[in-house]
Parts: sequence; structure tokens; C-alpha cells
Amino acid sequence: MPRSILFVHAHPDDEAIGTGATMAMYAAAGVRVTLVTCTLGEEGEIHVPALEGLAAAEADQLGGYRIGELAAACAALGVTDHRFLGRAGRYRDSGMMGLPTNDHPRSFWQADLDEAAGLLLDVIRETRPQVAVTYDPNGFYGHPDHIQAHRVTMRACELAEKEGLAPAKIYWTAVPKSTLQAGIEEFAGTANNPFAEVKSASELPFGTPDELITACVDGREFAEQKVAAVRAHASQIPENYWMLSVAGNFGAEFMGMEFFQLAAGERGPGGGPNRWESDLFAGLAQPAPVPSAR
Ligand SMILES: [Zn+2]
Repeated sequence: MPRSILFVHAHPDDEAIGTGATMAMYAAAGVRVTLVTCTLGEEGEIHVPALEGLAAAEADQLGGYRIGELAAACAALGVTDHRFLGRAGRYRDSGMMGLPTNDHPRSFWQADLDEAAGLLLDVIRETRPQVAVTYDPNGFYGHPDHIQAHRVTMRACELAEKEGLAPAKIYWTAVPKSTLQAGIEEFAGTANNPFAEVKSASELPFGTPDELITACVDGREFAEQKVAAVRAHASQIPENYWMLSVAGNFGAEFMGMEFFQLAAGERGPGGGPNRWESDLFAGLAQPAPVPSAR
């Protein structure tokens, strides 16, 4: 069975920002990398003045436009298998928690869990991932579509289990509290500091306690691809976007290291002081070698 990994993200751009280096690394290694994006990101803020008329309250064309941005991001990451959950436009961006957009009949927040999970199960049946990656129960930072992506992925894996097709491991994306704390200290006084108002990582509504982290993927070699993928989502990038200016200041270390919490399956061998896995396939049986061409 060839190695296969499934990433489930809420909006176009989450793949690049959250797991871009890991996706690029596995794509380069010849692993089947499948990205499922649950919504078109119709409610995103538009940061390109010439495109402002596409906004939900105006022409409501942002979602369609972002399909092109996502395609460019996937190309930058070397990811060729991308789908929208169900199909493009099946589920709509729900907007931030508490907004009226949460109640749109097509919003992902209103999705029937089993129906949406069934659509993801179809992808699992086809691609047979050994590893699935999504967000933690809080959707990393509380956005309804991220929470729903978590629920749908966990439910789809449960349904897959009944067919003997469950991924052997499920990971949730994570940023260690210690990394956030180091960031707060390092970025102090720099331009576009995302943490300017924050004194301690404990004040932030996101971040995973270090002891819950189980894997750290070193994708520094792929940091440039990740930056290119983030830039491909140009409509979403404010001038002086902190992530890119921070990337400029701190480089591959910041962009390339991605962390994960194992949510299901057995933890594989790891290294370093934390015994973190460096490979999301760690501990799984290696695939049979591909016979060389004669
Ligand atoms: Zn998102």
C-alpha cells in the first residue's frame, strides 16, 4: 500500500499557514498528499483594494476567486490532489463565531455532521490514508469552520473504522506554548509584532501545552515553498502580514517547523529531549519498496 496522508482544512489558506511545510515535504517524498478544504472562504477579509468588490456583502465572488489562489498554493507546495468537501461551494464559510453568517443554510457550521462526514469518507475510501491531519476540538482558535472540520474528520474516521479503512493515526495541528512564549520574547520590539500586546503565552486563546505535543516535523527545507503558498493567497494577506515579516526576520526556523498532537493511533519512536516523532508515519509499517524499472 503506498503511503497516503490526508489533510482536512477549513478554508483556502489554512493549508499553507498551518501545514504547508509538512505537505510540501511529503509531496516531495512521493507520498500521496490529499488536501480536502471544507469551504471556499467566502467570508474572508479582502486585503487587495482592487478586489474589495468581491466581498460577501457586495458581489459575493470571493469564494470563486479563492479557488484560483488555492490552486496556486497547492502548486507551490507540490500538492496535486486537492478537493473541496462534497464539491466547490457545497459548504459556505460560516464567518467568525457569533456572526449571523453562522446561520446561513449552506454554512459549514450548519452542516449535518453525518452527511459531511460521509462526503469525507468517500475521499478516505478512495485515497486510503494511513495518516489524517486536522484541528483540535477547539479548531485551534475557535473558528466555527475549524471546529466543524475537526468534528467532521473525527466522525469520518469513525465511519471508516467500521469498514476497516480508518487511518492508523490521526493528528491535530498544534503550536507549543513554549514556541509561543519564545516568539513573544523574540519578536518584542520588531515591526509587525503579532504579540505586541501579549506578555505571556498563557494569555493567548490558542497553543498546546508542550506535554501534549507528540510530533515535530522539520520542514525547514520547504520553508520557501510554504512562503510561496502563503503568498498565493494574496487576497487574504494584509500589507506587512505578520507571518511573512516574521518569516523575513526569523526565516526557515519559524516557517518550517510544524507541530502535531497525536489524537488516535500509536505514537511512534521519536528523538530529542521531548521524544517527539519527526515523521507522522513513525511506527507504521513501511510500504513495500517499489520495484525498480528494468
Ligand atoms: Zn481558516
